Amino acid sequence: MSPDLDRLIRLQQLDSTIEDARRRIAAHPRRLAEADARFIDAQQRLETARQRFKDNQEARRGLEKDAAVFQGRVSKFKDQLSEVKTNREYQALQHEIETAQRDLGAVEETVLEQMMAADVIAAEIKQAESAVATHRKEADAEKTTLGHELVSVEAALMEASRARASLLARTEPRLIALFEHVARARKGVAICSATRDGLCSVCHVRLRPQVFQLVRQNDSIIQCDSCQRILYYVPPPAPAESAVTHTT
Ligand SMILES: [Zn+2]
Repeated sequence: MSPDLDRLIRLQQLDSTIEDARRRIAAHPRRLAEADARFIDAQQRLETARQRFKDNQEARRGLEKDAAVFQGRVSKFKDQLSEVKTNREYQALQHEIETAQRDLGAVEETVLEQMMAADVIAAEIKQAESAVATHRKEADAEKTTLGHELVSVEAALMEASRARASLLARTEPRLIALFEHVARARKGVAICSATRDGLCSVCHVRLRPQVFQLVRQNDSIIQCDSCQRILYYVPPPAPAESAVTHTT
């Protein structure tokens, strides 16, 4: 293969590596946020459960105050019973006592319900706390992995950029200009192979026989008539070679 083609193929590989590394670096903050998402979600559920528990306790304290008021009323009326003079007064007081006792009973029942609800909420809090701990651990581990990945991607980017600069220094400016012109027009892919049956492997247009013949020689810069990409050819492995491959 001509050294020119060789360099352009290498340049394309480096450009793909650089592009891929830049994309991954740009995606890093989003991936960090994704790693935290489940942890944040679990934390919010925990906060909600804790708030519900607080509301429950407050409601219960309010009910207990009400119960004390009704209890006080019952005691007061009962004390008054010994001082009544008439049967009519006695019956009226008796009625007051019953009403206060009914109110007290209703409040006490609600307190009981609140206590049972509190048990359920307490269990939910415990569950949510363990989910928070699990998701925090997972998020931390994932972020550590992402951090290592970022370091290695940044190193790969730096190495590829250095290799690219050195390759450009060894490549004819006219070829670089052609490569960059096609790359700009064709989503970054300036060079591609021709298939063994004579198609451009990217745009899939069939090459003219004479063009395909030249491409197969791999010793000059030939462009696809349709997409303008520079073409090269990867010959099938020779039978002897494939036999060797099979036996090893
Ligand atoms: Zn093409």
